[in-house]
Amino acid sequence: MASTPSTETAPNGRPLEHTAPPGHSLIAHQIHGWCAACPDVELWEELHAWRQRERATVVDGPFTDRAPVPSREVAAHG
Ligand SMILES: [Zn+2]
Repeated sequence: MASTPSTETAPNGRPLEHTAPPGHSLIAHQIHGWCAACPDVELWEELHAWRQRERATVVDGPFTDRAPVPSREVAAHG
């Protein structure tokens, strides 16, 4: 008897998966339903998804992930 497909979905609407294809990120598939190794997904898209997920957990977190001023290391090198 075939198992019933999960109806759980990630915030982006993709179905969550409890497994991942060989070579793919298991945790990304479990959390987002996809990973950077999936076809038509760029590495930056997975990075952005993780950042958005973590930022959502920060109470009164900044709207943007960008640092407001350059770090001292960058400023020292002009
Ligand atoms: Zn994948």
